[in-house]
Amino acid sequence: METGVSVSPTDSGIHVDTGGAATRRLWAPMAWLGAGSGQSWESNVLLEMDASGFWSNVATQVPREEAQRQRCQVLGGPLLPGVVNAHSHAFQRAFAGLAERRETEHDDFWSWRDRMYRVALAISPQQLKAVASQLYLELLRGGYTHVCEFHYLHHAADGTPYDDPLTMAWMLVEAAQEVGIGLTLLPVLYERSGFTASTLRDDQRRFATDAAWVLQAQQRIAQYAGSPTVNAGVAIHSLRAASPASIRSLVDDAQGPIHVHVAEQTGEVDECVKVTGLRPVEWLAQHHALDSRWQLVHATHVTQSEIESVARSGACAVICPTTEANLGDGTTELSAWLNAGTALAIGSDSHVTRDWREELRLLEYGQRLQHRARNIAASPTSAQSATAERLFARMAAGGAAAAGQQRWGLTVGARADALVINPSEQALLGVPQSRTLDAMVFSSPSQSFSDVMVAGKWVARGGMHSAQGSIANAFDDAMRAIWTDQG
Ligand SMILES: [Zn+2]
Repeated sequence: METGVSVSPTDSGIHVDTGGAATRRLWAPMAWLGAGSGQSWESNVLLEMDASGFWSNVATQVPREEAQRQRCQVLGGPLLPGVVNAHSHAFQRAFAGLAERRETEHDDFWSWRDRMYRVALAISPQQLKAVASQLYLELLRGGYTHVCEFHYLHHAADGTPYDDPLTMAWMLVEAAQEVGIGLTLLPVLYERSGFTASTLRDDQRRFATDAAWVLQAQQRIAQYAGSPTVNAGVAIHSLRAASPASIRSLVDDAQGPIHVHVAEQTGEVDECVKVTGLRPVEWLAQHHALDSRWQLVHATHVTQSEIESVARSGACAVICPTTEANLGDGTTELSAWLNAGTALAIGSDSHVTRDWREELRLLEYGQRLQHRARNIAASPTSAQSATAERLFARMAAGGAAAAGQQRWGLTVGARADALVINPSEQALLGVPQSRTLDAMVFSSPSQSFSDVMVAGKWVARGGMHSAQGSIANAFDDAMRAIWTDQG
């Protein structure tokens, strides 16, 4: 039964009706249907969704008048698919912008990590809920409709498990449900402090798990029946933080995507070579049958042959440009990854920014600075000469596997996630429609996405979210409490 309400666009740009979840058809003057359609942008697009919030029909060249006759919800701006944020540690949002003073003679990833642990030790379950809710709301406004939560902050501050060992995990589920963002929850295997250690450091006590714990957690989360927007996979903190035997037993029985931090730091690569004789990505490729379930987070310090082995396997590299810049990790070889055909996704990781446009911008600019050249991500020899479009297409496709989704995008069978672009945004004024993504990524500042759909529901409309006031207040209170003892 068609229940949509037609709304005519006005000069101010974005228009959504009050039909909410009851609206089952949308019409957009332009929509990104992805490289697979042969043409990224299509005009006059009508999208229909089924009752469970998945696209059931996508038609192009449907005149506005016909859409109005069919009582579609008419959008005032171009439509993009939602973007998966493939790597998040929600609690680190409490740390964003607050690690920018040098405390030691040499400040690097490892000194940052010590400070981050002090924050991790201070966060209660309710504070995690407050921080995650604020973060997830910001992620929606930054154009993400799904987040992969690499979750290792499990136990009470003294290291003892909560009565329900998944107390902290459920806080993330509650936050995602409150905000309306999709969530892939990845309990993390974390059992030692280094390649040659047998236990964790004392300040890692909240993270301690083994393979059996992670598998049980994954099964409990997977049974969570609250929403089609929550699913589960597993994660391995890193090769340094989990033994080969534990990784094997986890991987053998795990369901869903498998995420692992790998080759983020040169020191970690050197230690891996020293202990195993292999570089981290080499070690993974030789010891496990990598495939599209595997998400190699960072994969910053890799050789050409490692890139090619990842590409052949179908595994995905998850790049976190702003965090890698913030932590001084180094830059990866973007064009090598792209040209090898590797699946790529992006993550905001420590959340120093919460907008995928900033991630793509910094990813490309890091390469330009390094190589003293322009449009590194583009491929003039193919139909992908537009830097932002090539990056967006690869990241949109790669994020699906990271989130354990069979299909993604504005395509039949995919979850009905979408972002409405405001054509009245300053950066887009006077820009030809075909250059929309170019200007969104490479002309800033960007305006938040004010209309965001997840699983067929408008979770943000007209820049408003129904719980934004209470979420901001709870976050402010949590931050004051967390930072009371941090100085
Ligand atoms: Zn991470």
